Amino acid sequence: MVHNTRSGLEMILRIDTHIHTVLSGDASTQVNQIPSIAKLKGLDGVAITDHDRFSNHHIDGIIVIPGVEVSAREGHILAYGDVEEISPGLSVDETVRLIHERGGLAILAHPYDVVRGGVKPEMVSERLDGIETINSRSNPFRLSKHLAERASRRLGLPSFGGSDSHTPETIGDAYTCIDSDSRSLEDILTAMRDGRVQAVGGPTCCVNILRRAGSNFTRRFRI
Ligand SMILES: [Zn+2]
Ligand SMILES: [Zn+2]
Repeated sequence: MVHNTRSGLEMILRIDTHIHTVLSGDASTQVNQIPSIAKLKGLDGVAITDHDRFSNHHIDGIIVIPGVEVSAREGHILAYGDVEEISPGLSVDETVRLIHERGGLAILAHPYDVVRGGVKPEMVSERLDGIETINSRSNPFRLSKHLAERASRRLGLPSFGGSDSHTPETIGDAYTCIDSDSRSLEDILTAMRDGRVQAVGGPTCCVNILRRAGSNFTRRFRI
């Protein structure tokens, strides 16, 4: 029997901890589209993690975790909490140190994606708060998930899941189950810091990837 020393009022929240909006420069999702999609997909909330742009939105009806996806020299780091802007191009250790100095959490984004690359845990000397074991856009999906799960187990790093969505319909393709004491941001971040998380989800359907490629093509050539 598991003895629980916490309040006994915990709840499992389903939060897509990695989505992008138009402010990323490479995504089409408008902030006002997020609540209806999140509800449709059965999510309690999202973390908006635009590229190198700290996001701290309040959206009625859903939980929004403040965050940013920082482009460190060696690859992408997800930062959660009130970390504000963090300069891109710093070393991964400098980036993680800065996130921690500001009271945030530092998680490795898509560490084993062979196309986009990623920061492997052994490249980091600073303490990490987790590893994104499921990223719906990671390539090849099954192999990158397997390697990330193995690293997570070996190093005892909490396992996060995010869609890395750049279009509204792909929000929720993966998400993180968070065992939080309440829906407050403080309790959610505490649960994430304590590792009371589990990654869930699958790859983004190729139709949606093609749709995004098509819209990029149309934008670039103004068709
Ligand atoms: Zn990334
Ligand atoms: Zn991303």
